[in-house]
Amino acid sequence: MEIKPMYTLPSLEPICSISTVAVLTSGGDAPGMNAAIRGVVRSALSQNISVFGIQRGFSGLLQDDMHLLNSSSVSNIVQRGGTFLKSARCPEFHDSNNRHRAAKILSQRGIEALIVIGGDGSLTGAHLFEEETGIPVIGLPGTIDNDIFGTEDTIGFDTAMNTALDAIDRIRDTADSHERHFLVEVMGRNSGFLATHVGIAAGAEMILVPEYAINIEEVALQLATSRRSGMGSSGIIVVAEGNKPNLTHGIAQQLEQHGLTPHISILGHIQRGGRPSGHDRVLASCLGSISIDYLLAGYSDIMVGVSDGSVVDVPLDDLIRYRKGLDPELLKIALQLHK
Ligand code: ADP
Repeated sequence: MEIKPMYTLPSLEPICSISTVAVLTSGGDAPGMNAAIRGVVRSALSQNISVFGIQRGFSGLLQDDMHLLNSSSVSNIVQRGGTFLKSARCPEFHDSNNRHRAAKILSQRGIEALIVIGGDGSLTGAHLFEEETGIPVIGLPGTIDNDIFGTEDTIGFDTAMNTALDAIDRIRDTADSHERHFLVEVMGRNSGFLATHVGIAAGAEMILVPEYAINIEEVALQLATSRRSGMGSSGIIVVAEGNKPNLTHGIAQQLEQHGLTPHISILGHIQRGGRPSGHDRVLASCLGSISIDYLLAGYSDIMVGVSDGSVVDVPLDDLIRYRKGLDPELLKIALQLHK
């Protein structure tokens, strides 16, 4: 039997010469961002390209806060969570004048292309920057939410899922001992990817996601019925945080009105940190490394992602135009697995 690599890589012919690029991490940090930076730097250096590391995302870019990276700058970081280049949110980058200012800063340093590692907000900013200034940009999907159109996986998703599972497996012991239900809130403002995967892998009794309206009566009835039948005196209900504050507390209060007394556990920022899983390290290393090959092959204004086991390029414009939907088949499986 033939053993296949984790990803099929595209064969890219170099058609242009580039001597200097810059890399930044932006938006919410995700485990594996360091491995992606390392991939970018080592791949670039091996092809005689210099790399500037920009501090704190677009903020650092606007402040010209960057320095040249060498091979040892990225030693001993592949296993670390977070991002050693730091990340930030930069409201100023929404202003086109500032994006032009950023382009000038890069040009003054002789930087010919920019690699942006971040979520859909950061990649939207990257697209506008390229469109307005003509400086080539390659985006890498770095977010624990896995909510980016055009890629089945994102850097940090696997680690965040496993971190949430570690916590939920512990919470379940208490839920079981005290015969209580726990509402466990995981990250996901607009997307239930993390919640659905975590819910399936944790054997959750229920998964509540922003893509579908929550019917509290139905939730309460289901929990009360399984409690009465002796099947579900305890259990885990995974809730994606949603974009309204205190969603999970609101659900708990409403369930109390139906005679249930669920505990709440908000996993919060522990899902973002921690050492990246092997999966995320390989994904980030491959995407980081190949981003340089895409640049040399003349690509720009794309995100490098994965689809059907292959590394693929996705126009950044598509990320803005289309939304990645939650696979209804996955939710169907989740429903079948409930008691
Ligand atoms: P993420 O990249 O994790 O989705 P955000 O949505 O907060 O995080 O975006 C991170 C940064 O990307 C913002 O602070 C801003 O600098 C930039 N950005 C986001 N959306 C846009 C936009 N529409 N136009 C320009 N820049 C943007």
